[in-house]
Amino acid sequence: MTEPLLEADNIVQFLGQGAGRVQALKGVSLSLDGGELVLLMGPSGSGKTTLLSILGCLMTPASGSVRIGGQSISGADAEALAKLRRDHIGFVFQSYHLFPTLTAEENIRLALDVRGQSSRTAVRAARDALAMVGLAHKRKSFPLQLSGGEQQRVAIARAIVGNTRAILADEPTGALDAENGQAIMTLLADIAKDRSRAVLVVTHDPRILPFANRIIHIEDGRIIEGEPTSPAKRVSNS
Ligand code: ADP
Ligand code: MG
Repeated sequence: MTEPLLEADNIVQFLGQGAGRVQALKGVSLSLDGGELVLLMGPSGSGKTTLLSILGCLMTPASGSVRIGGQSISGADAEALAKLRRDHIGFVFQSYHLFPTLTAEENIRLALDVRGQSSRTAVRAARDALAMVGLAHKRKSFPLQLSGGEQQRVAIARAIVGNTRAILADEPTGALDAENGQAIMTLLADIAKDRSRAVLVVTHDPRILPFANRIIHIEDGRIIEGEPTSPAKRVSNS
């Protein structure tokens, strides 16, 4: 059997300080295999973004372990985590996180520059990625000149441009109309058809359900086994 691409084991995480301190994750385990597109669904505040951040090596959990390709990332310092992230993870932030002073193309190129790719290769790859999300004509636009949905598509292009094995996307269709949402999910599902790659999508969007190989439900910091009790309520949350 091949190793799961990404594994989390008994993850616990606390956020905030003092009276505002909350236990965002209460012992979460999951694994992501190559060749699958998995949805992570749950009500607002259930811990989805926190879990995705930990899987994406953006945040270190209070306890529990994360393995990438069978290798534990425990004990990795900030520099080592940054390298793991670069080499293995494409991340789509819920709030896009584009650099306002860089154009769409430059925002995407940045992901490749940090990977040490030559600028000619990076420019070509960035343009290809922009074309894949239907924004070839916007390559010179700055984030503030783009609609929310266009910014979201630039963020997706930046996450896929590095051809990493894992793509983690936090509500990637939240700002997209039906047509663009469909196109983006088709793109992500195509990536996940590759047996060596996997996509994990946090979503409330019921339109995404047909693209899923598997759905993981999270509630109040815990994975819910089996069917959730009230799916209709869950998907209507934001
Ligand atoms: P989701 O993405 O499912 O909406 P989050 O992972 O963002 O949930 O949040 C999980 C819980 O942690 C929520 O109760 C939220 O209010 C809390 N939380 C998130 N970020 C912080 C923070 N920076 N400080 C304190 N609490 C936080
Ligand atoms: Mg969230």
